[in-house]
Amino acid sequence: MSNKLILVLNCGSSSLKGAVLDNDSGEVLLSCLAEKLNLPDAFITFKANGEKHTTSLAEHPDHTGAVEALMVELRAHGLDSKIGAIGHRVVSGGELYSESIVVDDDVIAGIEKCIPLAPLHNPAHLLGLRAAIDIFKGLPNVVVFDTAFHQTMPEHAYTYAVPHELYTKYGLRRYGAHGTSYRFVADETARFLGEDKQSLRMVIAHLGNGASIAAVSEGKCQDTSMGLTPLEGLVMGTRSGDIDPSVFSFLAQNANMNITQITDMLNKKSGLLGISGLSNDCRTIEEEAGKGHKGAQLALEIFAYRLAKYVASMSVASGGIDALVFTGGIGENSNLIRSKVIGYLGFLGLTEDAKANEDARFGNAGVITTAESKVKAVVIPTNEELMIAHDTARLTGL
Ligand code: AMP
Repeated sequence: MSNKLILVLNCGSSSLKGAVLDNDSGEVLLSCLAEKLNLPDAFITFKANGEKHTTSLAEHPDHTGAVEALMVELRAHGLDSKIGAIGHRVVSGGELYSESIVVDDDVIAGIEKCIPLAPLHNPAHLLGLRAAIDIFKGLPNVVVFDTAFHQTMPEHAYTYAVPHELYTKYGLRRYGAHGTSYRFVADETARFLGEDKQSLRMVIAHLGNGASIAAVSEGKCQDTSMGLTPLEGLVMGTRSGDIDPSVFSFLAQNANMNITQITDMLNKKSGLLGISGLSNDCRTIEEEAGKGHKGAQLALEIFAYRLAKYVASMSVASGGIDALVFTGGIGENSNLIRSKVIGYLGFLGLTEDAKANEDARFGNAGVITTAESKVKAVVIPTNEELMIAHDTARLTGL
């Protein structure tokens, strides 16, 4: 174990996720999840040494209360004095940040400036950050932005074809998301394949409840499917992904829906859930599709088809494709989705190795195409927490 551990915090508006990591081994020594923050029945669950227990936060049911409870728990495990720095996940750094950075007053002001780009997330990150500064006195804090990796996208990839002043006045452009995962997976893929990252052309699909895809070549992001917000791009658990923007006027005129209702529908009631009418959870959809449910079968097919189309278009951005990489809950576990996607991409020279595809699940990395396949498809488990820990250790000299 390294003598200095890293605490990684990921704050949502009503939740706080934390993990204490050994930056050398990647081992998680303690983790926590606070839920229902700002409600009277807020609580926090701790996990350490294979044991789990829950504590009420009723006396102090906000982010500060959760960080205080975390400090008490760390003391009980003798871990508080071993923590050397804190790393925070931040959803949007807009165009201000292309790399992780040690927190000072200017950085806090920068995260505040980016609130219009992540109105639900950035304010919550700031609450967690301020609580950490207050309670873990004297420890350095580092912020790691989801958008940072995508800042290398060329102008022609991030610019929308709308009046240009909307970009210059309001910052309306594509920013992307899942950047910390892409950075980790790009490095891991090159390592796993024994290739030089600079010369490897990768298309990486991060498929979780939220899903996106990125083109990476010369070690940099060239394009990604999420845009101004995480609604653009692939079909997701509850999000529609790409859709004709005229859906707003169409539904306003024909279904008497307003902007808020339509935005809510596209974000929360669409995707796998909307098509199947059953669930946003890919596992459930696969089970029901297997039993013959037509909506579930259609949901899987649309998910895979749209993803395959995106792989082909992202190959334009990466100037060709050497490796198609699957990650995230669905990417790491669903051999069915992977098989369908590879099936659609036979024309690009991908051929599935069915046995290898079956084996590369539940945390196992693997190449899932045959030796003859012109393009390799690979499964690489992501680890955003570890990437945040690495950045935090590097930037604070631990
Ligand atoms: P994430 O957001 O990365 O945690 O991924 C969540 C998604 O992964 C959900 O849609 C899960 O149903 C899906 N998932 C997890 N395990 C499996 C599995 N064994 N087969 C299919 N999908 C899975």
